[in-house]
Amino acid sequence: MAEVLVLVDHVDGEVKKVTTELLTAARRLGEPAAVWIGEGADTGSAKLAEYGAEKVYVAPAEFNDYVVAPAAELLAKLAGDASAAAVLVSATPENKEVAGRTAVKLGSGVLTDAVDVSAEGVTEHSIFGGGTITHAKVTSGVPVIAVRPNSVPAEESPAAGAREEVSLELSDAAKGAKVTDRVVQEKGARPELTEAAIVVSGGRGVGSDDFSVVESLADSLGAAVGASRAAVDSGWYPNQFQVGQTGKTVSPNLYVALGISGAIQHRAGMQTSKNIVAVNKDPEAPIFELADFGVIGDLHKVAPQLTEEISKR
Ligand code: FAD
Repeated sequence: MAEVLVLVDHVDGEVKKVTTELLTAARRLGEPAAVWIGEGADTGSAKLAEYGAEKVYVAPAEFNDYVVAPAAELLAKLAGDASAAAVLVSATPENKEVAGRTAVKLGSGVLTDAVDVSAEGVTEHSIFGGGTITHAKVTSGVPVIAVRPNSVPAEESPAAGAREEVSLELSDAAKGAKVTDRVVQEKGARPELTEAAIVVSGGRGVGSDDFSVVESLADSLGAAVGASRAAVDSGWYPNQFQVGQTGKTVSPNLYVALGISGAIQHRAGMQTSKNIVAVNKDPEAPIFELADFGVIGDLHKVAPQLTEEISKR
């Protein structure tokens, strides 16, 4: 079976959830082979094997000293050597650039923002804020596919995870942009938004930059906090917490929307959540079309009661 290369997303050896999703999708196309750049392969490889990586290619440490280009050179070389069936990366801004460069080197095609991949290599894309679904396929060469986080449910499937060191001399072009410093964002007490099992988001209905009503409910549930663009644009909550078409895509087990109307651009980032609870004082709010459970009421009354009840348990 041909290899399917999966570029690993990790933070200091801790494999991100999206990589387990990519490995799950890769199993439909062939034999998953993870590609590790940077420190931490020793600790992270076990998780890759749990999710089906038969092989873990580990790049020389210096690859991490340069921006984007080494990853593309590496993926193109491995894809050529192994006659890979496909290359999968997560659809982050950086990895989309890696995907584009890799496809150019392979003389093939790139598909970005896929939300699903079939065994035939047909990708599904959700466009116009989720209003339209399109399908696409690379017709020549090794397809390079950038898959959105939280689109494919991760499933375990133990495999060998055999480590293989890669030797590759980087071109001068690949050394064009050097990383001079890395600043690790401080981990807050709450889970990371795109990885959280529960997300509690606040919208314009919160009414001010005092988001404590949202944060308290989130903390009682061990959840991440999200926000609508209206809340972010008002300066009530930081930009990195925006959920939606121009923000993060989340797909938690439970999504709680407080004072969010449910505009199509917001839905685009949360509509695949397994259970959706909406609190809104307007019974006609479109979010109720999507919600599994809805409370018509003032969030400033409903959310504190919820928080109190949950905190008692
Ligand atoms: P509103 O639409 O104003 O809704 C507020 C809701 O709160 C109302 O339903 C109201 O009934 C309710 N409410 C008010 N007070 C209370 C209360 N006390 N208790 C309970 N309910 C109350 N939006 C995103 O969220 N994410 C995106 O990524 C995004 N990208 C966009 C990209 C483009 C190109 C465009 C054009 C728009 C984008 N938007 C995005 C904006 C989107 O169209 C909406 O304007 C936005 O989602 C509205 O946010 P909201 O629901 O918080 O505010």
